[in-house]
Amino acid sequence: MPTKLVIITGGVISGLGKGVISASVGKLLQSMGLSVSMIKIDPYLNPDPGTLNPVEHGEVFITEEVWNFSPGGGVSFKIAEIDEDFGHYERFLDVYMHPSNNITSGQVMLSVILGERKGEYLGRTIRLIPHVTDKIKERVKEVIDRERPDVVIVELGGTVGDYEAMPFVEALRQLKLEFGNGNSMHIHVTYVPYVRTVGEFKTKPAQLFFREVLAAGLPPDVVIARVEGGLPPDVRDKLALYASVPPDAVFEDPDLDTVYELPLYLEEKGFSRILKKKLRIDGEVNLAEWKAIVDSFKSCDRELKVAMVGKYWRMSDVYISIVEALKHAGAYRGAHVNIVPVDSEELERGNDWNLLEGADGVLLTPGFGSRGTEGMIKAAEWGLDSDKPLLGICFGAQLSTVAFARKVMGWREANSTEIDPSTPYPVIDLLPEQKSVELIGGTMRLGGHEVKLLGGKLREVYSREVVVERFRHRYHIMNDYAYRMEDKGYRVVATDLSGEIINAFEVEWHPFFLGVQFHPEFKSRPGKPSPTYLAFVEAML
Ligand code: GLN
Repeated sequence: MPTKLVIITGGVISGLGKGVISASVGKLLQSMGLSVSMIKIDPYLNPDPGTLNPVEHGEVFITEEVWNFSPGGGVSFKIAEIDEDFGHYERFLDVYMHPSNNITSGQVMLSVILGERKGEYLGRTIRLIPHVTDKIKERVKEVIDRERPDVVIVELGGTVGDYEAMPFVEALRQLKLEFGNGNSMHIHVTYVPYVRTVGEFKTKPAQLFFREVLAAGLPPDVVIARVEGGLPPDVRDKLALYASVPPDAVFEDPDLDTVYELPLYLEEKGFSRILKKKLRIDGEVNLAEWKAIVDSFKSCDRELKVAMVGKYWRMSDVYISIVEALKHAGAYRGAHVNIVPVDSEELERGNDWNLLEGADGVLLTPGFGSRGTEGMIKAAEWGLDSDKPLLGICFGAQLSTVAFARKVMGWREANSTEIDPSTPYPVIDLLPEQKSVELIGGTMRLGGHEVKLLGGKLREVYSREVVVERFRHRYHIMNDYAYRMEDKGYRVVATDLSGEIINAFEVEWHPFFLGVQFHPEFKSRPGKPSPTYLAFVEAML
């Protein structure tokens, strides 16, 4: 069977949950026994999202593999930092995504311009069409050639009509034409607001975006609508009419108890019938296993409260993989995990300490820069005094090491050199290979690395000696200080294979105080929780 193409675009506003919708469509196809590749296009000009402000952009997802992106002219970048939607893809499909499946304008433009310098376009004027659009299609085809899937799903980030999205919309139109009828389809995700003062649903914004995709030559085959409070039949008919699809091709994306329920919901509404018809595929949807996992989320009979301390709480998606990993581990043990956001800057002002008191456990989040770090360190010092379980991830592990140095060792001015370059006790400092790094983008220690588990609770819960976890850091825990702290119960429980880079520590005399330099959340799956998070949840229970 030739590869089939599913295009997913959005209208009206971004942030409609297109990533979960794309992952759910992928899940339906996968449950029919088909292999699925996922591509996400991000039209911004950054080559990857690694340098974006998390509060503006959300989480940066880290892949296992690091891609050496070489656009030409001897220039190359390491890419393992990609869009957060890849987290949904990995969690729903239980796969490892390749970083080159996240195509950005920045990458495409670099390839075209450096290609020109190499003489790839000799004699020609480079244009958005056909040169940039050709490069976009080439990138999609590279994924197909590498993964040879039955179906490739291409999600276009943002909304159609964004200036940056135009060459991508045109490339997608051409691709759809090349794949042809019966081998391709277009799902358009839209939003219908309800205007309370007049008591009416308003489809006008959706209509304008239907017009946009119709004019671009990319008519929708299916419309999925986010509607406040449920989609009434007359609104469905109106959307169908303006999008030029039959009413049974209009679906709703309702608020569900758990995001993992969406494939089941879509299937219940007959979604696979349309997939089969439009893509001319057969096979029966079998979601029995997935349904058992979803049920485990819905049948939890215990409640846990995790106080998550960080400074990026203005945007809820920033810690999405961590939140999901906590939920996976909770559901696995029959516990529903409630997240209590704690702003570390509020802790610095003396506020919100009751949130820590009222929680079953504390999680110190990853992050960068000095803002809000005193609050994080104080929270870890508080954690050393309390017997509540505490888990520090990456920056959280580094700052809880600082807390141990200050509180237990009495090194009051201990710090990370990221925060205080002239601290007399630099317990956290740059990785040796980072000292000569000049560029900011794509230069951290990234991607999957082997971790040697030496002992403690961590070794127990993984029940293996060597595991691969994903990393994203420039700084690390300094050996000489760590081994001096071992006298007082700070215990190094994991290192890299050379034994040089400390990957995790526990506090021996504490019921559960664990810091990991890696990001185990990226490998957690519903039904297959990350051992690190499972240990934390079990300690809380
Ligand atoms: N800022 C820290 C470092 O670069 C931690 C990074 C993180 O939490 N991902 O090492």
